[in-house]
Amino acid sequence: MEYSKRVFEHFQKPKFAGELKDADAVGEEGNIKCGDVMKMYIKVENNVIKDIRFKTYGCIAAIAASDTLCELAKGKTLEEAEKLTYADIIKEIEELPAIKIHCSVLGIAALRNAIKNYRKSN
Ligand SMILES: [Zn+2]
Repeated sequence: MEYSKRVFEHFQKPKFAGELKDADAVGEEGNIKCGDVMKMYIKVENNVIKDIRFKTYGCIAAIAASDTLCELAKGKTLEEAEKLTYADIIKEIEELPAIKIHCSVLGIAALRNAIKNYRKSN
């Protein structure tokens, strides 16, 4: 399987990996095919995502795509962030093997769940 250079850069040095201790909401999503589990932590201020982290036991594609998604989501409003798609991620990391699409959308689903949970509790 071939990955682009950008994918490996995100995989080797993820900027947003880890937990957010004072997160306002957490979202989770699982993927049975690869056994990937994704958690997204968001910190929200005035409807804007002030900080964001992800935690996963996922594969390279899941890590690279989620790190990219975090980069894109940070500083965006909740409405903007929940509209981010797989195409937005691909624009940043150039390409992912088609077989890995299900891993790449995990972060998107987890982020949307986090936003949903945030709205429920605020
Ligand atoms: Zn995977």
